Amino acid sequence: MKAARVHEYDTSFSGPEFLKVEDVPEPGISEPDDVIVRIGGAGLCRTDLHIIEGLWDDTRVVDLPYVLGHENAGWVEETGTWVRRFEQGDPVVIQPGLSDGLCLACMRGHDNHCENLVFLGIQQDGGFAEFLKVKERNLVRLPDGLEPRDAAPHADAGLTAFHAVKKASKVLEPDGTAVLIGIGGIGHVAIQALRDLSSARIIVLEKSDLALELARELGADSAIKSSDASVEEVLELTQGKGAEAVLDFVGEGDVPAQALAMTKMDGYYFVVGYGGTIEVPTMEMIATEKNIIGNLGGTTSELRELVTLAGEGKVQLTTRHYALDEINEAISDLHEGRIKGRGVLVP
Ligand code: ZN
Ligand code: ZN
Repeated sequence: MKAARVHEYDTSFSGPEFLKVEDVPEPGISEPDDVIVRIGGAGLCRTDLHIIEGLWDDTRVVDLPYVLGHENAGWVEETGTWVRRFEQGDPVVIQPGLSDGLCLACMRGHDNHCENLVFLGIQQDGGFAEFLKVKERNLVRLPDGLEPRDAAPHADAGLTAFHAVKKASKVLEPDGTAVLIGIGGIGHVAIQALRDLSSARIIVLEKSDLALELARELGADSAIKSSDASVEEVLELTQGKGAEAVLDFVGEGDVPAQALAMTKMDGYYFVVGYGGTIEVPTMEMIATEKNIIGNLGGTTSELRELVTLAGEGKVQLTTRHYALDEINEAISDLHEGRIKGRGVLVP
């Protein structure tokens, strides 16, 4: 089968060939709960850029080369002998964290914190390919009318957004304010999910005009071009107090410092994007009682909830499709901010 693999890290991100599209052996069933999925769509994520840059080098347990892609959906192609809930042809979206189902975190339903988690497209071959091997417990059935190529970004961008937004919705009063920073693949789902779970006012901060336009279309109350003056602008809109919840989908450069500065006393700063550093004086933490909350993917049950909302049309993805052969163009487009919503490979 055809697959796009990373052969070596490109630490300066110079390209133009980040991944090689080549012929590799098809995966086969080896354990009774294995399922082979024919990929219908595989979303491109900033994590893929971070992997190409070598940022994840130390955390990987497989050797190069391997297949990237952790945001996958498709149709069941083949099932192991224990698989009961799915049969050939079923449309599915795939939870990217393969969990064991047996550790305490899994037992509590927090399978994104599984003690033996194996992440597709990082620790094991991913979905930038025609076929992918996963476990039955990672599959979530797609509702009628939702095509795998259109649903694939729910596996990661959607799920990550939903996981953070669910937490934020619990601390947002109806008259509260949420600030969303960065409206790319994850942020554009977050606006819609937050609209659905909370009636708080939504302020969007974003650099790209394309994404600001999308934020307005999706119902942001204010969509502001981010700049050095972003903190002042948010303070002005909140009578000098800041926002109860700030969701940061960037997590790099001076964004974490800005995000924390626009968080209200006793408010919550949700870190979703990553790559930078948070530096905050401990004096400020005790004086303001601000809360800094990390977010890692989401649980399989949250993926089911999200896909249900998507099936009802309450959360819609903006996607741009690329053929597998166009992977390097897609990676450049993502890196340069030329994709509105999420880029999806359609093998
Ligand atoms: Zn991702
Ligand atoms: Zn587990």
